[in-house]
Amino acid sequence: MRVTFLGTGSAMPTGERYQAGILVQDDGRTLLVDCGAGALQRLQQSGVGYENVSTVLLTHHHLDHVSDLLPLMKARWLAGEEHLEIVGPQGTKALVDDLLGVYEYMRDKLELQVREVVAGEFSVAGFDVSAYETRHSVPCLAYRFDDRFTFSGDSEAFAGLANFAEGSAILAHDCSFPDDVDVSNHPTPESLGRELAGREIGRVYLTHLYPHTEGRHDEMLESIATRYDGDVRFAEDLTTVSIE
Ligand SMILES: [Zn+2]
Ligand SMILES: [Zn+2]
Repeated sequence: MRVTFLGTGSAMPTGERYQAGILVQDDGRTLLVDCGAGALQRLQQSGVGYENVSTVLLTHHHLDHVSDLLPLMKARWLAGEEHLEIVGPQGTKALVDDLLGVYEYMRDKLELQVREVVAGEFSVAGFDVSAYETRHSVPCLAYRFDDRFTFSGDSEAFAGLANFAEGSAILAHDCSFPDDVDVSNHPTPESLGRELAGREIGRVYLTHLYPHTEGRHDEMLESIATRYDGDVRFAEDLTTVSIE
């Protein structure tokens, strides 16, 4: 399996970090998880391209995770592709309908399949996926791809999510802010380290990084390391991780 971070930023992207998007590929299957602003450009830069993404899995409906959905539809239509599947939590059908309500000319351009999922097991783009409800300001699902990859989506750090991720070769976890930012709905390094303490996880990548984290990576890693002694790194846009 190959996991490529397309966007490791947040609702306040930086020049180096675009909004949320992760590409999961295995054995000829390709899945885009979240589709924030910049995902389309990063797809082209990754060499995969929007022509090859026919399924999008959404963690939740915040703008920084869905902004490039309509642009993806239009780019695929212009490229001669005929369909797109959009899978996400409850409300995804209404979201897509509403987006197409604003851009009526995009209706019927693609054969759209929209599917809503809940916490539990399901299959998408040929991947067997487990979903787990996170703690965020709107309903959000974390996704796990067998023992290989777990993505937290947007979430506070909490024991249930750490349990869900335990045993993964790779965990990509929201770590939006450094410790001195007073935040809810997202973790701080301190809370993330506390919840990961003692867990068996191959490697953790920190993502969903606000500009507040720039220049503060060392102290954030040190904060996590006071409680969690595993391999923790910052995700970067266009980094690909191969997982056995
Ligand atoms: Zn969010
Ligand atoms: Zn977000």
